[in-house]
Amino acid sequence: MSVLIVGSIALDDIKTPAAEHPNLLGGSASYGAVAAAYFSPVNLVGIVGEDFPGEHIELLKSRRIDLGGLQIVPGQTFRWSGEYMEDMNTRETRSVALNVFEHFSPELPETFKSTPVVLLANIAPDLQHHVLDQVANPRFVIADTMDLWINIAKDSLIRLLGRVDMLILNDGEARQLTGESNLVKAAKSIMAMGPKFVAIKKGEHGCLLFSAKGEFFSCPAFPLEEIHDPTGAGDTFAGGLAGILAREIDSGPVDFSSLRRGVVFGTVLASFNVEAFSLERLKTVDAAQIENRSRRLQHISQFDAV
Ligand code: AMP
Repeated sequence: MSVLIVGSIALDDIKTPAAEHPNLLGGSASYGAVAAAYFSPVNLVGIVGEDFPGEHIELLKSRRIDLGGLQIVPGQTFRWSGEYMEDMNTRETRSVALNVFEHFSPELPETFKSTPVVLLANIAPDLQHHVLDQVANPRFVIADTMDLWINIAKDSLIRLLGRVDMLILNDGEARQLTGESNLVKAAKSIMAMGPKFVAIKKGEHGCLLFSAKGEFFSCPAFPLEEIHDPTGAGDTFAGGLAGILAREIDSGPVDFSSLRRGVVFGTVLASFNVEAFSLERLKTVDAAQIENRSRRLQHISQFDAV
């Protein structure tokens, strides 16, 4: 089964305490699509300008990614610039240029409209709505978001929650959205707004998965000694999770064990992604490396009951 992914496709300028690189391939949909394609075919919806380098298109084409929903229009590609502080957790946005994004209206090719799993990667909530308006009876819809939309488009985001099965966000965003400092209460409060599942990411401290039925799963982050660029970790996580669900989805409802595996494999792919700038590491991962890290995560999470 395939996964439909809509989100940003960007050219990023990234500065870390150790290095600075301009003009990198970035964007929530780029990370999400390459990650998901490790597990299932992807239908990509997004927009770039005519300045978007052909090599990035070639990278996406070299994967199981259908670019039928990619608009290439006159103008400049969306640009984002971010700087990481010494701890690599704190990030400041230095600049954003919407460029072709400003008048973007995602249009789904006919063949994309029945994709069973939908990942609304990080993008303005109104655009996420517009994509949902075009899909026919999706089996499972995941939405990702960011602090910006909670600040400037909260009403649209809250309406979106009534239309999705799962929300992915980080701990700070969960607190900001709900006003609850306790993450268990925050998850409950989010699920009361619509989604049956919520994943709360805690950066280097892993991820919490909740269901409205009271199921719970906690996945540690993969222990890494060196992080070169955290950009796109969240998008990679979401893509990996959506790809696993699309691979495992059958005629019944999505079950919690599939979601648990989604969280684990999303975490594994995110751990590779942060080992290099842009998608440089993510794009070179192979199936054996993914398998090894998932087994390692399984091993470090087990213990003998007394
Ligand atoms: P993450 O590190 O998971 O928060 O995602 C970083 C990616 O999000 C970068 O590659 C950016 O190009 C992209 N991005 C930053 N701001 C926005 C925005 N307002 N809308 C969509 N994508 C964005």
